[in-house]
Amino acid sequence: MLYNAAMNARPSSREAAIRVVGKLQKAGYVAYLAGGCVRDRLLGLEPKDHDVATDATPDRVLQLYPKAQRVGEAFGVVLVRAGGCPIEVATFRCEDGYSDGRHPDQVQFTDAEHDAQRRDFTINALFEDPIADRVIDFVGGQEDLQARRIRSVGDPDERFGEDYLRLLRAVRFAARLDFQIEIRTSRAIRNLGRYLGQISRERIGQEIGWMLTAPRPQRMHAAKLLQDYHLDGPVLLEDHLAVALPTLAVVAEQSDFAQVLAAWMLDRHLRDAGSLTNFADQHLDNLAHRWRKAMCLSNDTRDLLLTRIRLAAAGLAWPTLPKAGRKRWLAQAQTDRARQLLRALRHVHGIDALVDQIDREANPLLEEGVAPFPYVTGDDLLEMGLRPGPAIGKLLEAAYDRQLEGDLKSRDASLAWLREQTPQR
Ligand code: ATP
Ligand code: MG
Repeated sequence: MLYNAAMNARPSSREAAIRVVGKLQKAGYVAYLAGGCVRDRLLGLEPKDHDVATDATPDRVLQLYPKAQRVGEAFGVVLVRAGGCPIEVATFRCEDGYSDGRHPDQVQFTDAEHDAQRRDFTINALFEDPIADRVIDFVGGQEDLQARRIRSVGDPDERFGEDYLRLLRAVRFAARLDFQIEIRTSRAIRNLGRYLGQISRERIGQEIGWMLTAPRPQRMHAAKLLQDYHLDGPVLLEDHLAVALPTLAVVAEQSDFAQVLAAWMLDRHLRDAGSLTNFADQHLDNLAHRWRKAMCLSNDTRDLLLTRIRLAAAGLAWPTLPKAGRKRWLAQAQTDRARQLLRALRHVHGIDALVDQIDREANPLLEEGVAPFPYVTGDDLLEMGLRPGPAIGKLLEAAYDRQLEGDLKSRDASLAWLREQTPQR
């Protein structure tokens, strides 16, 4: 028999989810696609993943899929594999009591309608029956999708009060989808920002990370909304600021989180510092410390942010640096990103001309090689009879500077120069 690749090919995430829905329905349960995947499909977007919701309890789901695993035990979610594709199957539930502002105290299994009502926004509370090919909408979500509107399911104050993370989710969806936030929902967000402190800094950081690493228009939209809703203060553990965001607006599309944070930080705080040099010397450490805490940043992200801003500030000295200094600056691992930041800071007086000068003058140096292998090493100096100590390091640095300058063009020349520097013994 011919091997039929198509038959054995991995199903798409949607196909896999439809298989799961089909199997549950055949077994007599109500089962739908739910949440984000329904929203995204109706909008013509590619969903990140496909979730299934059902009235089958986790135990029943496990009977149908003995190899599946429970995840988030209390929430009644089972991770099923269909054709190798992982699909989360959640039992319809309602949730009560959010005493810590994040985690529901109790979970009760229920029907689809009540499950829709515990979801955050109407556009996220839709179900799709892919077998009957219909959308099940208990909350007016389709109308809000049509109107491009983010609206809380039920009373916004109450719903945000259950879980303040929803304040940031509203902003993220509004920015990502370019939707308006409906007026009552909007008013509630404005009033409740100060309670963001009740949710974990890790969750806050994760939401901000998603918002700010989105494509540029969405990233900008999110940052502006955070500011408009006065969420910037509680998110960043600092005062609310209404500032223009010219650096964030132009920093490269493909920026990582650290880079976008650096741009955002410069937009918020460079003006007060007066100059980039002063910012890097006097303000940066405290701010990085604060932001790390506020968003539970990884040490890696914090370090990249620090390094790039410091390197950008060091780059201001370019016009006065000798060739070796320029090469040393260009040879740093994060200099490309620092140059990108400088480019994004073109709106700052004087930086425009500097960026052009660096762009003009860096290329020939890069072509020449900014980090050549040193002609001489400590062993050479020890062989010349020098005793180990700081003097050796200094001499090697000086020799390397000369090599970078192009004054020493070979190992022999470098050795000869070193001999001149060391007293004969
Ligand atoms: P994304 O595309 O970003 O994954 P999503 O809508 O799928 O968006 P998820 O965080 O994956 O969002 O959550 C899946 C669904 O669970 C949501 O669509 C929503 O119905 C519900 N949900 C998630 N988080 C919350 C929350 N904090 N409060 C209420 N409902 C929530
Ligand atoms: Mg999702």
